[in-house]
Amino acid sequence: MKYKRILLKLSGESLAGDGEYGLSAGVLGSYASQIREIAGAGVEVGIVIGGGNIFRGMQGAERGFDRVKGDQMGMLATVINSLALESALRAEGMQAKVLTSICMEPVGEYYSKDKAVDYLSRGYVVIIGGGTSNPYFTTDSAAALRGIEIEADVLLKGTRVDGIYDADPEKHPEARKFGEITFGEVYARGLRIMDLTAFTLCRENGLPIVVFDMDTPGNLRRVVRGEAIGTLVRE
Ligand code: UDP
Repeated sequence: MKYKRILLKLSGESLAGDGEYGLSAGVLGSYASQIREIAGAGVEVGIVIGGGNIFRGMQGAERGFDRVKGDQMGMLATVINSLALESALRAEGMQAKVLTSICMEPVGEYYSKDKAVDYLSRGYVVIIGGGTSNPYFTTDSAAALRGIEIEADVLLKGTRVDGIYDADPEKHPEARKFGEITFGEVYARGLRIMDLTAFTLCRENGLPIVVFDMDTPGNLRRVVRGEAIGTLVRE
């Protein structure tokens, strides 16, 4: 395996499957079995999940909610998703543990780097819920931050798209996919892979990113083995 310790970022939206809202048991099961493949091969897996399938602070603000309250609702949504994935992983026979950035024991243990690394080294899949615990951030930033903290080898951003293109492939069928791209070129071309806070955190701390299609079973294992799946962003 190319990567020994990874931070996997899953979007909340993808957990909804064909629906726009809520949780799809099928998607959770498929993600859990993909994760089992790599964890079973000895890869240490940290996970951060979004909350977009349940609530996003910005959407709340558009409907008149206080932004900070809305963001807190969004962060709680990430905990719901984390618990759902923990349960799906356990159903696959894995050891999994939810740590939360916001103190809410006994729902999950309160996050610390030491605790996360300790569980990882004992073979647990560690899901870190609650975002960064701060409003005005996204779970991409949480994924970057936790990836750096736990000293992951790579941040894997599992999406519905199979990599980074020079234009939106849904609008421009001639768009070209990058196999590899530098952080500098992503800035220069104005490509949006994740929010700039998250992206800059990765760059400044030397955490490479792979964007890949997580909805094709087997892809996670291929990425972790170092196969040319998706797009690798590095210095
Ligand atoms: N959020 C936040 N701080 C964080 C992470 C998330 O306030 O550190 C809130 C924010 O409102 C966000 C929501 O949680 O819209 C869900 O996260 P995100 O939009 O990143 O989820 P995804 O798009 O990945 O499903």
